[in-house]
Amino acid sequence: MIADRLAEVRSRIAAAARSAGRAPSSIQLIAVSKTFPVDLVREAYAAGQRDFGENRVQEALQKIESAAGLEIRWHLLGHLQTNKARKAGAAFATIQSVDSIELLQKLDLAAVEAGATPELLIQVDVAGEATKFGVPPAGVPPLFEAATRLQAARVVGLMTLPPVPQTPEDARRWFRQLRDLRDGWRESGIPPPMLRELSMGMSGDFEVAIQEGATIVRVGTAIFGSRDAKPWVRNL
Ligand SMILES: *Cc1c(COP(=O)(O)O)cnc(C)c1O
Repeated sequence: MIADRLAEVRSRIAAAARSAGRAPSSIQLIAVSKTFPVDLVREAYAAGQRDFGENRVQEALQKIESAAGLEIRWHLLGHLQTNKARKAGAAFATIQSVDSIELLQKLDLAAVEAGATPELLIQVDVAGEATKFGVPPAGVPPLFEAATRLQAARVVGLMTLPPVPQTPEDARRWFRQLRDLRDGWRESGIPPPMLRELSMGMSGDFEVAIQEGATIVRVGTAIFGSRDAKPWVRNL
């Protein structure tokens, strides 16, 4: 069943890419397995999926341990407290929720100690929502500046988590805004390798995100099913 859903998501990604004149291979799919047991991760893995996303460090570390031996790239998508940076910097291929210089530096230190080379994305709060995590656009350039001094970790792009849309089209303006910010920072001389990835789009709106330039889409529900049946877990 997961194999079928994965195949459908992959074909929708490919169709959206082609309709936008982009190569399907230029879009990376992260299967968001938060709240789901590692058995389902294995099932998706058996269907060829290699990139998995988690929201919480503790939950992720348990799955990483259970799935040891599988060639999985784990991605941290949820807010990260600086006191967990040490563990996170060693465990994830990408950390997509970087929102402060302090966190950048702690992750880098952890990566140096662990001999790891994680890729970091800066989470941008495009909608200016006080309740959401992420850096407001004006606060991002100092992070790029600090990123030039990292030793092991590297900043490779931007992530956003816009307000929950009523329709997929509602999300378009936020995706476009992130892309415009990326373009503007490119023009202002930020090194292009720091702006390689645009992580945007989830189950409800990944096709719109691809039309607006997403290079990474993060899809949970459309692959693993609804998380609503688990009210004791804080859903996104
Ligand atoms: C949960 C989550 C997703 C996936 O959401 P779905 O709507 O289930 O596809 C994507 N990104 C982040 C940051 C998340 O927390």
